Amino acid sequence: MAGTARCEITPREPMWLAGYASRRRPAQGTLHPLWIRVLALRDARGHTGIVVSSDTLGIPQSIWQNVCRGVKQEFGLSADQIMLHSSHTHTGPVLRGALYDIYPLDEQQIEKIERYSEWLEDRIVATVGQALSRLQPARVTAGEGKATFAVNRRNNPEAEVVQRRAEGTLQGPTDHTVPVLAVWSADGKLLAAVFTYACHNTCLSLDEWSGDYAGFAQTELENVHPDAVAMFCMGCGGDQNPLPRRTVERAHGYGLRLAAAVERVLAGPMRELDADLRTELEMITLNLGTPPTMERLESLASGASYRSRWAARLLDDLRAGRPLERTVPYPLQAWRLGRNQLWFCMGGEVVVDYALGFRKRFGDSVWVSAYCNDVMAYIPSLRILDEDRPPRNGYEGNTSMMVYGRGAERWADDVEQRISEGAERLVRRLTADGS
Ligand SMILES: [Zn+2]
Repeated sequence: MAGTARCEITPREPMWLAGYASRRRPAQGTLHPLWIRVLALRDARGHTGIVVSSDTLGIPQSIWQNVCRGVKQEFGLSADQIMLHSSHTHTGPVLRGALYDIYPLDEQQIEKIERYSEWLEDRIVATVGQALSRLQPARVTAGEGKATFAVNRRNNPEAEVVQRRAEGTLQGPTDHTVPVLAVWSADGKLLAAVFTYACHNTCLSLDEWSGDYAGFAQTELENVHPDAVAMFCMGCGGDQNPLPRRTVERAHGYGLRLAAAVERVLAGPMRELDADLRTELEMITLNLGTPPTMERLESLASGASYRSRWAARLLDDLRAGRPLERTVPYPLQAWRLGRNQLWFCMGGEVVVDYALGFRKRFGDSVWVSAYCNDVMAYIPSLRILDEDRPPRNGYEGNTSMMVYGRGAERWADDVEQRISEGAERLVRRLTADGS
């Protein structure tokens, strides 16, 4: 059985836009509306799974937990049964407690953010209820397409991308796969297309609300299939950008290319999935690296940048006798749809190495989405942590930890190992009866 629902979440008052530290004013209007979309699936044994997509930068932990609490209370579902995806649009609203160090927020702005975040939690729970109330017999199919606009941003200067692409000399790993989960009604109408792409949703940096290229892709698919919801999930695109970028025409163009990739998959042939759903979630404890010293924090604390605000906040903690955080809880989720389709959903801004590694380890048809449930930091691989040691101090493996307000400037070196071991455990549990 499957049911769908969607709800517009464009803020009704001027609020700060999420994702860039360089903005100087709140949103000035709407390019296209923001949405949450919900797909509810129920298998032959009555086990239910809920997929939520959202045109947001990243769902912070407090919103994820409040939504899980609401969904448990209202519908008796546990956290492993709901996936809360964010599209990582940088033209969506700032959410509660997320990246506050990087924006010049005053109390009035923070109050608006709190109010909006609470409203968003209610809307998500209510929209889940709507999708559950519309369950109807359905078929579920799976397939993969391809779109090639994602570029490894660590290895290709933005200004050289057009030339390098023409010459075929783009560098660094990418993941151009477009996994598609399609849900069809008994009479063959498309009810939902859930698709993943590993590429920062950052074509646009204007001061207007939009879902960026992913928003254009969803709108295009829903225009072509008026009975369907089109749901974008970010893949492991932590180190991938849509390049070249920065114009509405390009965002629209990438959206159309992604929608076309999904359409090609929908045209078939696709793999038919049995009505057998398994859902698992594990909270993994990730270790932070060496904590910053007082001297280091003092040297950073003067000034008005996000680094200064971060350092000043940590200094306050230390001086008040509050220890800096040493570990971070990390949600790793995996579903099995039918006998064979594995779908990992990872928290955080995960770099592309994880998707490539999981596919090598668990098989080519494995899907990996990221930016899911809690977006608390970048999740670099060991390769990227190694590359980003001083003096390079790259963004994904190093300086982004300050953007996210974490208690250290780096993860410990075992971050990839701990996540990979968690993935092994989840897969063992999903296949525990040997089937
Ligand atoms: Zn990002």
